[in-house]
Amino acid sequence: MAIPTHQRTLDHEVSCSGIGLHSGKEVHLALKPAPINHGIKFIRKDLPDNPTIPARFNCVVDTSLATVIGLDGAIVSTIEHLMACLAGLSVDNVVVELDSYEVPVMDGSAGPFTRMILEAGIREQNAERHFFVLKKPIELKQDGKFVGIYPDTTFKITCNIEFEHHLIRKQSCSIEVVDHIFEREISSARTFGFLHEVEYMKRYGLARGGSLDNAVVIDKSGILNEEGLRYQDEFVRHKLLDCIGDFSLLGMPILGHIVTNKSGHAFNHAFLEKFFNKKTCWQTLTMPFPPDPAHKTVKSLAI
Ligand SMILES: [Zn+2]
Repeated sequence: MAIPTHQRTLDHEVSCSGIGLHSGKEVHLALKPAPINHGIKFIRKDLPDNPTIPARFNCVVDTSLATVIGLDGAIVSTIEHLMACLAGLSVDNVVVELDSYEVPVMDGSAGPFTRMILEAGIREQNAERHFFVLKKPIELKQDGKFVGIYPDTTFKITCNIEFEHHLIRKQSCSIEVVDHIFEREISSARTFGFLHEVEYMKRYGLARGGSLDNAVVIDKSGILNEEGLRYQDEFVRHKLLDCIGDFSLLGMPILGHIVTNKSGHAFNHAFLEKFFNKKTCWQTLTMPFPPDPAHKTVKSLAI
């Protein structure tokens, strides 16, 4: 299946309930179809006047433990897995309603959101999608961390991670981000943490909702989750999932190849700022791109 050329939304409303990873609070989430050029916007139904917060990089207010967006004092936390899911399935226009400040963590992956959206169905809309198309590479390097984006006729991500732990060490994962590949290879990869970090966070009132039901937890000897891993390299796949979510905050799909080494939410966000300042390195286009020869390559993408 090739990259969709037209904007997409949900066929009908779907909803779920769960707890927030950091708040531990029960939250109800509804995903609703939205009109063309709407983008992804969060609405806080629990606050007076139901404030709306666009899922855009310039609304990001914190990236230390999760990606948090905010506007005029209203925030929504831990949006990254839901955002990864919408971007991974090429859903452009959705209203996300919440009755608390944190997106439910579900099982720590984007699997439950993916199943929900596929169950609702995805509807093509009568308007072309606009893409960021890379003309020249953009790179950011700092303290052993690296993010680069390179011209390409598809949307690709390559993630590299490195941890001291014997279960992880060096892992690398590279995929082309289209619906069925996202669903099969990435969506079910869970968030992970080291036991000492989890204990530390809980001591300070963070990760209140965190448990073996929504995270892979590792100690010195191994994995505490009885069921083990969902993929042998679940860790790097989850980093790739986070990366899709972070880059979706550009507000439009990308045609380019993103490469990250040892990156996380904060560094990905720093890269997005650089991306927007390098306006000579990209352009925004609809597909196909005549007379650009890339048109042919994109059209032959059906896999
Ligand atoms: Zn994550």
